[in-house]
Amino acid sequence: MTASDNGSRPLIVAENLTCGYELERERKLLTALVDITLTVHEGEFLVLVGPSGCGKTTFINVIAGLVKPWEGTITFEGKPIQGTGPNRAMVFQDYAIMPWRTVQQNVLLPFELRDHGISKDETQRRARAMISDVGLGGFEDSYPHELSGGMRQRVGIARAMVTQPKVLLADEPFGALDAMTREVLQGQLETLVMNAGQTVVFITHSIDEAIALGDRVAVISHRPGTIREIVEVDIPRPRLAEGEITGHPKHGELREHLWSLVKDEAFGAKDVAVDEGAEA
Ligand code: ADP
Ligand code: MG
Repeated sequence: MTASDNGSRPLIVAENLTCGYELERERKLLTALVDITLTVHEGEFLVLVGPSGCGKTTFINVIAGLVKPWEGTITFEGKPIQGTGPNRAMVFQDYAIMPWRTVQQNVLLPFELRDHGISKDETQRRARAMISDVGLGGFEDSYPHELSGGMRQRVGIARAMVTQPKVLLADEPFGALDAMTREVLQGQLETLVMNAGQTVVFITHSIDEAIALGDRVAVISHRPGTIREIVEVDIPRPRLAEGEITGHPKHGELREHLWSLVKDEAFGAKDVAVDEGAEA
């Protein structure tokens, strides 16, 4: 059973969403995503895969409120998304943590940027608890340069989750990590997300990561991105606590299916920088 069929509420609903960018220099429009209809349910872990440039980051930016729809709608808890908000938090591939701040100070940042109506003592307490939840207890006063890449990304995750956002938007968060660290962080993220009932939209280039983490995997076609297929990952959790999920009977078949979809898209891609005929 996954979040999509256990009766949980729709959280993010995109209907016939089309969007893109105005290329000012060329005075053209670049269409990034076309006619996306997709629902993210509360508590669901949705993974997006697809060739480079297909619009995955754009989709996350639409949810974050940084990119606006040209056509169609995108709603969050039933209301059109207008701008950024504390209910949606981002985790970035390059961690985006501040080198001049300690771990604790980095994790406190969201409370400084926006008033969450809680006392200073309480924010300190929550930051410490979150740092411990991501396995960094004892490193509160360390600076980023004293940490490994995996530890830095755990700071990034703690900073995103400390305010208990409704959804975590993760853009290839483990893309810069070595394979072993990546596996460790996948397991820790699964545990964190399961414990918190956190909704996640997660971008990856790795089919194995998609199967390890996703309740569903949405395969996006090459640009302009459309949804090629949504694949359900019907493997029980926790998948990673015990290590090997590759031994699961469904794993091989899922992997093959996702690979064939992604390969199709990657090799079918046309390398066009700008849409012909579209004038801004
Ligand atoms: P992905 O994350 O799947 O690699 P993106 O969403 O980053 O893809 O990009 C989709 C398309 O939109 C690409 O063709 C990219 O060049 C273009 N694009 C992304 N961001 C911008 C921007 N800020 N301005 C203009 N074009 C952009
Ligand atoms: Mg991207």
